[in-house]
Amino acid sequence: MKTIGLLGGMSWESTASYYRALNEGVKAALGGLHSAKLCLYSIDFAEIEGLQHAGDWDATAEILSQAARSVEAGGADFLLIGTNTMHKVAPQVAEAISIPLLHIADATAQRMAADGIRRVGLLGTRFTMEQDFYKGRIAEGFGIEVLVPNESQRDLVHEVIYHELCMGELKESSRQRYLEIIDSLREQGAEAVILGCTEIALLVQQNHTAVPLYDTTAIHAEEAIKWALGNQMNKLGK
Ligand code: GLU
Repeated sequence: MKTIGLLGGMSWESTASYYRALNEGVKAALGGLHSAKLCLYSIDFAEIEGLQHAGDWDATAEILSQAARSVEAGGADFLLIGTNTMHKVAPQVAEAISIPLLHIADATAQRMAADGIRRVGLLGTRFTMEQDFYKGRIAEGFGIEVLVPNESQRDLVHEVIYHELCMGELKESSRQRYLEIIDSLREQGAEAVILGCTEIALLVQQNHTAVPLYDTTAIHAEEAIKWALGNQMNKLGK
């Protein structure tokens, strides 16, 4: 089994989901007392959030790159960045290390392409919904059209992420607003919706809506398990 490297803490609420998913996935594949080999560097999210909103992405890249070097030195065979938004600086982080980076948008888009999805809605932070580092990668790399909510809906989605989900607060009223936005993306032609922020699945799950959801945290973790187990999974026929 390979050792999974994980940059977490952004926020730790979603890192807890990763930790559980990675260990449950290895246990499901190998059974018994097996658990994931992983090297986690958990970053103080307050520092990152302040720099994001100040637009100082170079400083965030430096923090994540240093953490990634530590994870590599700690024995990781490949790296996950446990947040969609911080993939904005994925190129700089990838350059700072010599182990491969498993990109969250690639893992998600590969899954959608395999399912035949051609047009998808995207929920995430304003950075993820409005900038090109994420949408562009899915559109150009996989030929999938990405729709985003309108401006006031984007504001709502963003505020709920930072002021509720990243602080461990799950409100029924916010779930209803998210479900309305998912429905409006569907009405605009989205065949499915990407939960493009690693905390959203804490609030909205597939049983809440008939619109197919792509949970980036779960997909990223499942792909990491494949990378970690590789031949072992083939031998087990999984
Ligand atoms: N975890 C979130 C994401 O997947 C938001 C927190 C962040 O800005 O990193 O985008």
